[in-house]
Amino acid sequence: MNNLFEIRHPLCLENLAILRDKKTKPEQFRAALKRIAYFLIYEACKDLPLEDILIETPLVKANAKRPDKKIKLIAAPILRAGLGFSDVIAELLPEISIQHIGMYRDEKTLKPRWYYDKTPVEYKTPEKLRIFILDPMLATGNSALEAIKLFANKKVPPENITLITLISAPEGIKKIHHAFMDVKIYTACVDEKLNEKGYILPGLGDAGDRIFNTL
Ligand code: URA
Repeated sequence: MNNLFEIRHPLCLENLAILRDKKTKPEQFRAALKRIAYFLIYEACKDLPLEDILIETPLVKANAKRPDKKIKLIAAPILRAGLGFSDVIAELLPEISIQHIGMYRDEKTLKPRWYYDKTPVEYKTPEKLRIFILDPMLATGNSALEAIKLFANKKVPPENITLITLISAPEGIKKIHHAFMDVKIYTACVDEKLNEKGYILPGLGDAGDRIFNTL
């Protein structure tokens, strides 16, 4: 699939093994998640448009490059597990605007229910935005799809939207790309399938509970 990027880097896989292990303590879990977040976000930024700048080294004037400042970067962590990625994206992209969105999963219907949305009513220049939706577990795809629709309804072109996940189920990937084939998905691993409760197998359990120690 064109817009699916599975980062099967050895260092990602090592940290993923730590995250999957049920014996991993919350502190180690958060540290491993943070390390993987660097790899994923680094990869997801590889096609950011660049601009030329002039700088002075201690010796001469030189041409250099940096991400184009005319492109406004927005991170949308889906509460609460998305918070596991938000410190890292703020560190790597210091000027990013972090616009939290809150959905919880109705455990009966597996459908997302909105309870928080920090995005503005409209974006003035949606075509100049680059959105990173952060959600470690792409399971049924219902929450991620709702989040993508939120931005698409505010006229952000789907090709400007990137979903960053830790583990993705084939069912979720299919759902997203069926609706929005231009949305890019960056993930550390595509797992086997969902169980009857909508959990990813083999997965790591409930990411929010494991990050915040609320098991
Ligand atoms: N959300 C999680 O945290 N884990 C899953 O396996 C599925 C959804």
